[in-house]
Amino acid sequence: MFGLMMDRPLLLSSLVEHAEQQFPDVEIVSRETHGPLFRYTYRELAARSRRLAKALAALGVARGTRVATVAWNNHRHLEAYFAVSGSGAVLHTCNPRLHPEQLAYILNHAEDQVVLLDSTFLPLAEAVAPLCPGVTAWVLMTDAGQMPLQSKLANLLCYETLLDGQDDVFAWPEFDERTASSLCFTSGTTGNPKGVLYSHRSTMLHSFALSLPDTLSLSARDCVLPVVPMFHVNAWGIPYAAPMNGCKLVLPGPKLDGASLFELMESEGVTCSAGVPTIWLGLAQYMEAEGVKPATMHRSVVGGSAMPQSLIRDFDQKFGVEVRHCWGMTETSPLGTQGAPLGKHAALPVDQQYALRSKQGRAVFGVQLKVVDANGQDLPRDGQSAGELLVRGPWIMSEYFKGEKPALQGGWFPTGDIATIDTDGIMQITDRVKDVIKSGGEWISSIDLENAAMGHPALAMAAVIGVKHPKWDERPVLCAVKKPGQEVDKAAVLDFLGNKVARWWLPDEVIFVDSLPMGATGKVQKMDLRRKYADVLMSK
Ligand code: ADP
Repeated sequence: MFGLMMDRPLLLSSLVEHAEQQFPDVEIVSRETHGPLFRYTYRELAARSRRLAKALAALGVARGTRVATVAWNNHRHLEAYFAVSGSGAVLHTCNPRLHPEQLAYILNHAEDQVVLLDSTFLPLAEAVAPLCPGVTAWVLMTDAGQMPLQSKLANLLCYETLLDGQDDVFAWPEFDERTASSLCFTSGTTGNPKGVLYSHRSTMLHSFALSLPDTLSLSARDCVLPVVPMFHVNAWGIPYAAPMNGCKLVLPGPKLDGASLFELMESEGVTCSAGVPTIWLGLAQYMEAEGVKPATMHRSVVGGSAMPQSLIRDFDQKFGVEVRHCWGMTETSPLGTQGAPLGKHAALPVDQQYALRSKQGRAVFGVQLKVVDANGQDLPRDGQSAGELLVRGPWIMSEYFKGEKPALQGGWFPTGDIATIDTDGIMQITDRVKDVIKSGGEWISSIDLENAAMGHPALAMAAVIGVKHPKWDERPVLCAVKKPGQEVDKAAVLDFLGNKVARWWLPDEVIFVDSLPMGATGKVQKMDLRRKYADVLMSK
């Protein structure tokens, strides 16, 4: 017997409709690409999204057409989120930090017909356009006054001129909630990038989960600043969850340095935010140097790579910001786990509370987790047994765009991460399968070592790689960046680590570098380090 409830589809257009009716005056503040702040409201967002939907239809965008964006976090990008997906077309958010050849590859693979781009990326578009004959229109996200006098792009259009040509009378179409809504490619550190195709249903369920108290805890009293780019896994779903909950939304545009973010947080009364650890490191360094702390920002989610415990503690104690550690991937929409404490944790000594908070946390309802051994057998949830992390749920990918199969294991998605899960379901990532260090048949966790090294007061960043060793097969090597003006040497670092990790885990070499190679999504490119330092231990 079926229930007798209305079968209304979960469609993304309903979010902007809801915000228009319930939160018409709530502000959206956006940093324009050329500098100034732009402000409007959900009422105007909704009206302009409808006009954009009509303009795109006039350009031939139909159900299922792929429309790409190469853009910062700003109000026009937000309009594209609703106009494209709301029309039943597919929003393909592209990472502008990709190599031009990779960008051309994903534009062609997605078969994008229209590309919306910020003026910053015009030279990039001009470079890739000859490789992408399928793109029929390049739309510069600016007004007529800012259009270049000439461009190598023959079919370059102006965003605001397109909108000027339309009124806002438009009814969002209704269709199956399983329809594709957006497409995002994984960074593809090996081989070509692979597309993850989200649906209206998966994105909407993910938005509910993101709003929950133990995740981002969003409400109509919040002012949220997504630092995480809108080209990276839909800014972790904030552009959808903000209108769902009526949050004021602050979009930082291209200015992501500590000083600019701090100024924006203060001037707009930001209460919560989201971003990768390197962003929070930059902000912490700025606040430390200036001797300031945020007046209203009191919580943030962080993920994408491991947030060092020392930084979680600093944010708490020095700046009054609760940092909540989350784990996820492009393939998981991305929200998988969150690190909010359980009630019983309040009774633990403070050090243990921080140790728990630096783990990746508990599965968000909707996501199931397990760890398995090399034969695919389930491992116990004892906080000790490490194996590959498998996930499943309604916002976890089942296969890549255009049928590239990830070889699901019995209906579960293998993440490529190595983790433990404890009796409370708290998960800890110890490594990625490709980064784990195999020393004399035993595993050494590069993430644990990095976390410990980052606790050293003179170190700003740390990356540990496995390097070929004549006797042990592989041994750890630590690449570290010192904090500005700080001095420290190898012996002092090893001494410090000696109190924190097993002796046989201690890195065989410590290499001080000016900076670490960062990938397009804010992760250290360990492949580059492995290549560069491949032989440093061979003469030992
Ligand atoms: P890509 O897989 O292309 O690098 P993603 O952004 O999808 O891009 O990266 C997902 C990966 O990032 C995860 O599989 C995991 O290895 C890592 N990751 C994400 N969040 C965390 C976290 N909180 N702690 C440690 N690693 C994380």
